Amino acid sequence: MPASTQKLLKIDGSTGEGGGQIIRTALSLSMLTGTPIEVINIRAGRAKPGLMRQHLVCVQASQAISGATVTGAHLGSTTFGFTPNTIKSGDYTFDIGSAGSTSLVLQTLLPALLFANADERLKSTVTIKGGTHNPLAPTTDFLTEAFVPALAKLGMQVDIDLQQLGFAPIGGGVITATIIPFLRRANTLPFKLTERGELVNIALVASLLNLEYDICKRELASAKSSLVESEIDKTLITTQNNKLKGMGEGNTCYARVTHQFGEPHTHEMQTHKQHHEMFTLLGEKRSSAENIGSRLAGLVKRYLFNTDALVDEYLTDQLLLPLVLSGGGEFSARHISGHTETQAWLIQQFLPVEIKFDFIDNDKILVKVIA
Ligand code: ATP
Repeated sequence: MPASTQKLLKIDGSTGEGGGQIIRTALSLSMLTGTPIEVINIRAGRAKPGLMRQHLVCVQASQAISGATVTGAHLGSTTFGFTPNTIKSGDYTFDIGSAGSTSLVLQTLLPALLFANADERLKSTVTIKGGTHNPLAPTTDFLTEAFVPALAKLGMQVDIDLQQLGFAPIGGGVITATIIPFLRRANTLPFKLTERGELVNIALVASLLNLEYDICKRELASAKSSLVESEIDKTLITTQNNKLKGMGEGNTCYARVTHQFGEPHTHEMQTHKQHHEMFTLLGEKRSSAENIGSRLAGLVKRYLFNTDALVDEYLTDQLLLPLVLSGGGEFSARHISGHTETQAWLIQQFLPVEIKFDFIDNDKILVKVIA
């Protein structure tokens, strides 16, 4: 339906979390459904409200891929209007112009470009310049190691290539994503990521840019010894350190935890389906490498010992929209954050779907999407 014939949807950006995610998800859903939107009270829940660079680039990039008419979007604005037109697959480049998160800009465009054409040959590429490893946002590693594999389980084919690392405050990072239009296959089984099976592996990886190489080794040694002290089988733990080239300096480490999933003795389990959960940290001037390593191990242990849910906090809010768009299903989550609740509320403003959180206990919730 042409956008102009649809009723305007007014979105109050102060709802729930009241952060940048409301803008990004509203843009994605506006483009997908052709709904004109007006977003008010932008980031009212934050100390510095209004559009920051990363959010503004999300609006501009969405405008570029959907030929939208935009009003009132500038740095610091607390209201804007967005009326989308047709989404066009293609090759796009966007420059945030700061160390703002490339991952968050990409996640705004992904749903639209996945549904741009029902022709697998018409893939899109999106190159984004800015920060690749930011605090309070998914790092590129999180996207490639956890988010992209989760999308693949929904039948969504996305490939993300980290071309250049970018840390705050300089940025200068570059990612390129290749997006194949999504085709819903008639005979796919409903998505079910609920039963945690055996622990397969914990990969500890530390990387740095223009800093002492020793930092990585100390982070990894500290993380590994903390995990082994807690009686995690050391033969399941691998370590890897990387010295990277680029502008500026920075350090990041992650733990990728892989489990089998599916109900025991079912076909699923026998075919060794695996779920990857990612825990990432950035080096900080005030924290020793040993401290960062033991904090990383702490995140892994909370996930391994406090819950038998499969999906941790961040992937839960990021998975919700793709799950809705792919036709629904269910997964077990460790924690329902304000981000996830706000995301569920916003999706239901645009689409006639039901999103339910069934609390099994404090550390395990069944997330059900009936689309
Ligand atoms: P604001 O500055 O308004 O808070 P923002 O644009 O930075 O906004 P948020 O609304 O806070 O963004 O959304 C942040 C997103 O980053 C969420 O989807 C959240 O899951 C994700 N995220 C935050 N921290 C991590 C992390 N350590 N690992 C993976 N994802 C993360």
